[in-house]
Amino acid sequence: MGKARRLDGAALAATIRAELVPKVAQFRARVGRPPALDIVLVGDDPASHIYVRNKERAGSETGLAVTVHRLPATTTRDALLALITQLNESAGCDAILVQSPLPGALGRGAAQQVFDAINPQKDVDGFHPQNVGLLVQGRATLSPCTPAGVVELLRRESIPVAGRHAVVIGRSEIVGKPMALLLLQRDATVTVCHSKTVNLPAIASQADILVAAIGRAAFVTKEFVKPGATVVDVGTSRVDDRALVARWFGDPSQRLADFDKKGTAVVGDVHPEVAEVAGALTPVPGGVGPLTIAMLLKNTLIAAEHARS
Ligand code: NAP
Repeated sequence: MGKARRLDGAALAATIRAELVPKVAQFRARVGRPPALDIVLVGDDPASHIYVRNKERAGSETGLAVTVHRLPATTTRDALLALITQLNESAGCDAILVQSPLPGALGRGAAQQVFDAINPQKDVDGFHPQNVGLLVQGRATLSPCTPAGVVELLRRESIPVAGRHAVVIGRSEIVGKPMALLLLQRDATVTVCHSKTVNLPAIASQADILVAAIGRAAFVTKEFVKPGATVVDVGTSRVDDRALVARWFGDPSQRLADFDKKGTAVVGDVHPEVAEVAGALTPVPGGVGPLTIAMLLKNTLIAAEHARS
């Protein structure tokens, strides 16, 4: 990275997880079992399997009881909904996460139907319409993990939000929209951009805080960024083209050497050149991703505590 301060999401995530350990132990001592997270993984998407393994490991290390339900890609919608019903009713389950994306074979609208079916009190992703409504009203108990992680990062890095102009690129239900709402609740002036936004670089470059949640590798270049701005890179794209990695990160570079070992690279939405102008920047990998997992564990404890309050 260039001169921008590196916002070390991985280190902060480790701190958050360490803070959770005694709280999880207290819960266990009081209730007689650890907070329990059930993860539902359908199909064979390799990236999803890696994400779920990381969640499982981080949860277990924090003292949670994590159960992963691995279902084949041929699973029917009814079978998936039956599992959700069973978990909703299970006294031994505090938190339910259904890993996205669901296989296309489940049909259009499957993800929404499944999220709608999760007991809102166990909905640690915060995607149930009831939790979305509470988020809109500023009284959510379970906020979506990725935007919640970003807000936690800004807070702990003492980056002022109130009164600042925050521009969020992306308006998905899981990142862009809840991100905008959480920043608004913290008194930022928020602009939400998307694929139909005209003159995107001109708008983005007005931001004091720029959040990129698009899913297009190295899309956000220097012209999108006001000098000194805080840039949060949520995007993660898998890039298999060596020439692109060489162009973006340099030849020779550490990233290219890593690519040559693995044959692939995970690249954010933010072009590496942005480090020359931004004031602070999250890396990919090692930025928002680990924070998302830490917030999932935190939400699991919150859901477990809430069920007993
Ligand atoms: P998504 O559902 O595909 O949404 C992408 C958003 O970006 C949409 O709102 C889309 O606009 C907008 N967009 C696409 N192309 C654009 C362009 N050329 N200019 C401006 N806006 C554009 O993706 P998502 O689920 O929000 O995820 C976004 C990225 O974050 C992905 O790379 C994903 O892998 C990553 N992610 C990372 C984490 C983590 O833990 N690090 C967690 C979740 C997601 P329209 O609405 O107009 O189509």
